[in-house]
Amino acid sequence: MRRRGGCFVCDKPCFESRTVYPQEHPRAGQPRSGLVVNPAARRAQLLLAASGHTAMVTICETCEIAPEALPALWRRAVANGALELDRDYRRSMGMKPLSPAEEVEKRDHFHLMLYDVPIGALGSEAWSDYLARIE
Ligand SMILES: [Zn+2]
Repeated sequence: MRRRGGCFVCDKPCFESRTVYPQEHPRAGQPRSGLVVNPAARRAQLLLAASGHTAMVTICETCEIAPEALPALWRRAVANGALELDRDYRRSMGMKPLSPAEEVEKRDHFHLMLYDVPIGALGSEAWSDYLARIE
């Protein structure tokens, strides 16, 4: 199973958790949200073929995105994302259950993504540079 916040190419964790569940929660002390990025990780912009939109993915300090690998990497990322539709997975990750309407919306979203395969990377920047810019 994919680690949350892992590299788009190799799955190496690029995030670390900032907050944990409170004492009264059944998952007390376990990671919750507020992910802090590994400063060496990079944000890469992908150009999507069907919609013309861009998508941001995180890659670790050692990976490069080979254009010929993009379709398979994209399918894997979409499949990992679609895991969020699974109730048991959501529970295990401490995510709130989806309403039926949210479930339909997410399912449609992942279905569209599956056919909106990236045709190339437009560039990348270090997460640390990005964070310094927006703060
Ligand atoms: Zn990597």
